[in-house]
Amino acid sequence: MSLIQNINREPKITLLGAGPGDPDLLTLKGVNALKTADVVLYDALVNEALLIHAPVNAIKVYVGKRSGEHSYEQTAINKLMVDYALNYGHVVRLKGGDPFVFGRGYEELAYADSYSIPVSVIPGISSSIGVPGLQQIPVTHRGLSESFWVITGTTSNGEISQDIYQASQSSATVIVLMGLNKLAQIVEIFKTAGKDQLPAAVVQNGSSTSEKLVVGKVATILAMVKKEKIEAPALLVFGEVVSLHPSFKTLVKQYASIA
Ligand code: SAH
Repeated sequence: MSLIQNINREPKITLLGAGPGDPDLLTLKGVNALKTADVVLYDALVNEALLIHAPVNAIKVYVGKRSGEHSYEQTAINKLMVDYALNYGHVVRLKGGDPFVFGRGYEELAYADSYSIPVSVIPGISSSIGVPGLQQIPVTHRGLSESFWVITGTTSNGEISQDIYQASQSSATVIVLMGLNKLAQIVEIFKTAGKDQLPAAVVQNGSSTSEKLVVGKVATILAMVKKEKIEAPALLVFGEVVSLHPSFKTLVKQYASIA
């Protein structure tokens, strides 16, 4: 890569949360940051429509990880981000949802900091709260849920998070990210906790045109996900609050036979 030194611009990095997918769910502060970007580094879950806010001549680099395609390692992304900032000025690091919710945002912040490059953080709407919300599933609701857990289905060693065991025994709303391909195992954990009848939902591509939703109960959700061919990115919601979904009753009845 040949980088031309730009002596006029101070290096700086903005870690920007892009929201869950719908380009209108970016904050105004995010739009303003993109307007002054010299470089935009963006991830797989970021809607490319957001790049329209960046200047036409800004460098736009896709650094996402999509299965089966070439992907950048985190250390390579860190280096690229710092290189671009030192050579071009303002790097906007555009990340899906919120940068600090399973986004590895702090690793990027710490790396930039080790080069004394100033970093600002602009939060984004995390899919963990925003996607259920768009479905009219509140993560808390008076009388139904006093707290919510956001847990990863896949930890850095590829295992299911142990926190899911504890969460399954609580009355909290449990939102699982990166958990679709571990759904069978997760469902078993909830069943072991005696939660067969607990309402559950899975949302694929929330807030986008390819959004898909299944709503049911712990006992039926796996069969429903298979039947509806739900694919990643998707998140799982377990909790009484799912019963507030406008179609809950109809869908539970409709799928009662497949459990
Ligand atoms: N920082 C992001 C999460 C990154 S982890 C955030 O705050 O939203 C990536 C996981 O988030 C995906 O595997 C999926 O479980 C979930 N996810 C992200 N966007 C989603 C969307 N639009 N619909 C459903 N799940 C989504």
